[in-house]
Amino acid sequence: MRAAVLESFGQPLVIREYPDPLLTPDGVIVKVEANGICRSDWHAWVGDWRWLSLPHVLGHELSGVVEEAGSEVTQFRPGDRVIVPFTQGDGTCPACQQGHQNVCEHVTMPGFSYSGGMAPWVHIPHADRNLVSLPNTVSFQDAAALGCRYMTAFHGLVDQIKVQAGEQVVIYGAGGVGLSAVQIAKAQGASVIAVDIAEDKLSLAKRLGADVVVDGRASDVARAVREMTHGGADVSVDALGRASTIKAAIHSLRNRGRHLQIGLASPEDRGVSAFPVDVIVQHELLVMGTFGMQPHRYGDLLRMVGKGQLNPGALVTATVSLDQVSCVLEDMGAYRGAGVTVLTQW
Ligand SMILES: [Zn+2]
Ligand SMILES: [Zn+2]
Repeated sequence: MRAAVLESFGQPLVIREYPDPLLTPDGVIVKVEANGICRSDWHAWVGDWRWLSLPHVLGHELSGVVEEAGSEVTQFRPGDRVIVPFTQGDGTCPACQQGHQNVCEHVTMPGFSYSGGMAPWVHIPHADRNLVSLPNTVSFQDAAALGCRYMTAFHGLVDQIKVQAGEQVVIYGAGGVGLSAVQIAKAQGASVIAVDIAEDKLSLAKRLGADVVVDGRASDVARAVREMTHGGADVSVDALGRASTIKAAIHSLRNRGRHLQIGLASPEDRGVSAFPVDVIVQHELLVMGTFGMQPHRYGDLLRMVGKGQLNPGALVTATVSLDQVSCVLEDMGAYRGAGVTVLTQW
């Protein structure tokens, strides 16, 4: 098959023939219809995750149609529309047994643990456990758009930090995951303040429902947020992972407010970002992380998308072909462009 192959870190992906995926008894072959391109792909591409063995095919935000199913697969048949969750459990560890497959002790991720969606076909192992049926009411493109950032924001806001109607939410960073958080928080009935330093991202945040947008380059943004929320936001979200935005997000909270950490630390920080501990202690703040979402939680998300209460497709600002994927990654390095780009043509 023809795939976009990562042959050396930081170099353009090579469009070339790549071995077709092989079917295992517990797996399925999915014909990929749409695959979102994400900052995680960029991290892998530049070489932040050197454990990836090359050559490799990235792509972890994918939807498509089952083409072939292994002999042990009982839940899926050829022709079924599916979405592939990007955090997959093995079903045996305590986290899996308690229903938290997204934080499985042996978690696997398509496009990282094995070959992904920047190719026309993907093999998904343990398919009965790690695939989700995609209803006809949700397009392949919308499904790819909710593939990782959107469902991560959904799990974070709805399941983890439990945003309630009427609450005030401030979101730092209006990239793919931040914009997703804007839409989801609004759908939960919250009012939303979005903070970013790029005007195109702020205007997209506004279009997606943010009540107020704030230029992050202004001085003391946290203080401005506390003033406009009359004492501080109920919930803060850091969708960037920088020490400066984490600090501002936490300083934006009222007493006993809740902070949701979605952004990962930058590679220069080697996974460690500073947190303002004294404020967390003295104001009795709650700090939580979020990582992917369990397959069994997709039902609620897909129902809301099917009814039009959530619209992940509105985040899609470009669709590209396989030959253009490399350029998309290069643009990400320069933080060019707003919204989500989806690979739809092979
Ligand atoms: Zn992603
Ligand atoms: Zn597990």
